[in-house]
Amino acid sequence: MKKISLKQYNSFGIDVKATNLISIESEIDIINFLEKKKNDKILILGGGTNILFTKDIDYPILKIEIKGIEIINEDEDEVLVSVGAGENWNDLVWWSIENNFGGLENLVSIPGNVGSAPIQNIGAYGKEINEVIENCRGIFIKNSTMKIFNKDECKFSYRSSIFKEELKDKFIISNVTLRLTKRNHKINTEYKSLQNTLIQRGDTNPSIKNIAEFVHSIRSNKLPNYKKIGNAGSFFKNPLIKKDKLKEIRLSCPDIVSHKTKGSEYKISAAWLIENCGFKKIEVNNVTVHKKQALVIINSGNAKGIDIYNFSQKIKKTVREKFDILLEEEVNIL
Ligand SMILES: Cc1cc2nc3c(=O)[nH]c(=O)nc-3n(C[C@H](O)[C@H](O)[C@H](O)COP(=O)(O)OP(=O)(O)OC[C@H]3O[C@@H](n4cnc5c(N)ncnc54)[C@H](O)[C@@H]3O)c2cc1C
Repeated sequence: MKKISLKQYNSFGIDVKATNLISIESEIDIINFLEKKKNDKILILGGGTNILFTKDIDYPILKIEIKGIEIINEDEDEVLVSVGAGENWNDLVWWSIENNFGGLENLVSIPGNVGSAPIQNIGAYGKEINEVIENCRGIFIKNSTMKIFNKDECKFSYRSSIFKEELKDKFIISNVTLRLTKRNHKINTEYKSLQNTLIQRGDTNPSIKNIAEFVHSIRSNKLPNYKKIGNAGSFFKNPLIKKDKLKEIRLSCPDIVSHKTKGSEYKISAAWLIENCGFKKIEVNNVTVHKKQALVIINSGNAKGIDIYNFSQKIKKTVREKFDILLEEEVNIL
């Protein structure tokens, strides 16, 4: 059987091979595939920007390419937009801005597909996608039945949802419906670097377009372009710790970066922890961390997936030993 390189299908640029890559353009395509499949093991692939391949994939890969953006309901204040899982997320954000629909502006420039966005409840610059989700529709792999998950059923939490936990590899999202504002947009400028940009520009009343442009510009200065330097954005989640633990760390590290969550915990900057373990100066087998953002592990040459994985585990071990904090991967490792 002819082998296909997955190098162009993952943002780390890892050259593993697959034997069966199937393009999925509709829900009917999913059902047709499921009815003929021989076993349950499949890989659902979007843009491949949150995956680390460490080995060849010898089971079917469903490449989700379901298109379509449709307004299904609206009133004077809000609009419901139904989007195919294979649409590009960033294109959707700019489409919403052009139509003056608010809610996605802080989430601009996040790579990947619309259907993957709810899986880890994508978030950036003070917003998470769950704030605008109406529902997610899809199909169970086991029995081909369709289900619409309303927002509560999606069980969204920080960088997670039911689709990343109980339903991981069990349910294929085919469509996402978003509730966006048409007026009285809820402009969110809480995020520090966004606030600083607005202060520098003397802008006290930004539009959703301004927010998207500023966030895009901040991101392009800070994050490497994965088309040039392989990466998958943040490799780990920012850990949540209790107040007592934070106090203890502060005794020896007064400059630790943290902020209080809505609950009783504190979110610690994983980038700060990694940088403080010296990883900006370490490179092994063409793997290191980005100089401007230590949470982003990069493929600085022709690194293998397993080298990136080993480097990530070295980071995990060092952070655990130095701070007694366990980092949890945000990236899906295969
Ligand atoms: C430079 C860079 C910056 C990033 N910045 C951010 C950021 O600011 N915030 C953030 O949250 N993330 C960020 N990410 C991570 C990534 O962009 C998001 O997680 C994105 O939603 C992944 O989309 P994808 O289509 O590439 O998913 P993939 O990598 O293809 O898949 C991710 C997971 O979802 C599963 N999956 C994919 N599609 C479906 C589907 N239709 N149904 C069921 N399961 C599916 C896959 O099997 C896999 O487990 C960044 C990544 C990069 C490279």
